Amino acid sequence: MTDDSSSTAFRPDILAGKVAIVTGGGTGIGAGISRALAEHSAHLVLASRRRAHLEPMAEEVTRLGREALVTELDVRDSEGCEACVAAALDRFGRVDILINNAAGNFLTPADQLSERGWRAVVDIVLNGTFNMSQAVHAALRESGGGSIVNITTTYVGTGAPFMAHSGAAKAGVMNLTRSLAVEWGPEGIRVNAVAPGLVEDTEGARRLAESIGIVDDYRAAVPLGRLVRTDDVAAAVLFLCSDSASHITGHEITVDGGASIGGLFKQVGDRIDIVR
Ligand code: NAP
Repeated sequence: MTDDSSSTAFRPDILAGKVAIVTGGGTGIGAGISRALAEHSAHLVLASRRRAHLEPMAEEVTRLGREALVTELDVRDSEGCEACVAAALDRFGRVDILINNAAGNFLTPADQLSERGWRAVVDIVLNGTFNMSQAVHAALRESGGGSIVNITTTYVGTGAPFMAHSGAAKAGVMNLTRSLAVEWGPEGIRVNAVAPGLVEDTEGARRLAESIGIVDDYRAAVPLGRLVRTDDVAAAVLFLCSDSASHITGHEITVDGGASIGGLFKQVGDRIDIVR
């Protein structure tokens, strides 16, 4: 997505007058989502633990002509989540969109995973998503219905070695997505998820895939032949937040170039190989 949103399929004003909270909105995929929402006219509340991660994106949002509020937040703290939503209401008077993007992850064999490590990831990913969703619920209802988008991952469906903590937490987020969609649908609140494959130029890709040298093999197994870009994820989020998705709730859009379909089989010239 470019600064003038010229590569988007959506009109630049589709989110005019809307206010979006993005957790982890200053880095990686969260930054791409924040940029896309601002390019399509939303005002932004950028929330994570470190102000230094958020301020450059706030400046970018302002340059795009929207307003940005920076709030220091640890999503594990439910009172902090309530304070974040209160600050958003104080500044903008409404909240229409919540993107639960904040997460933590690291590679560890399950039999060596400490209780502290397990709890930290489940606490940020699953409890943090619940805390923010619960905190924003009344504000979304009062804005006449709104949209929550949870960032999950493709290994929710497949499982993945050394990421039992993250996979289990994200699977919980996927069920939470469906449960809240059913419970809050009658109030006009839609709850969906976007599941990216491996996203280039992100902390997640550096820490989880580049560090163990699997990026080239992963890319070779993607039917569409490249890694995910943050813009690809942002476009799916934008669609789910837009009125074009007004009858879609409780579902997940996978954005992975087809990497999670096809199983173990890979076409190599005129024969079929097994993916290593
Ligand atoms: P990232 O840049 O490390 O993003 C994580 C963000 O979460 C950071 O901005 C961080 O900011 C924030 N955060 C972490 N703990 C927090 C907490 N306790 N409270 C509030 N904010 C917290 O990583 P990324 O790769 O862009 O990942 C973004 C999302 O995409 C995650 O949900 C991840 O699971 C998902 N995902 C990534 C990939 C990939 O290939 N990268 C693939 C599939 C799914 P602070 O440090 O300032 O708190």
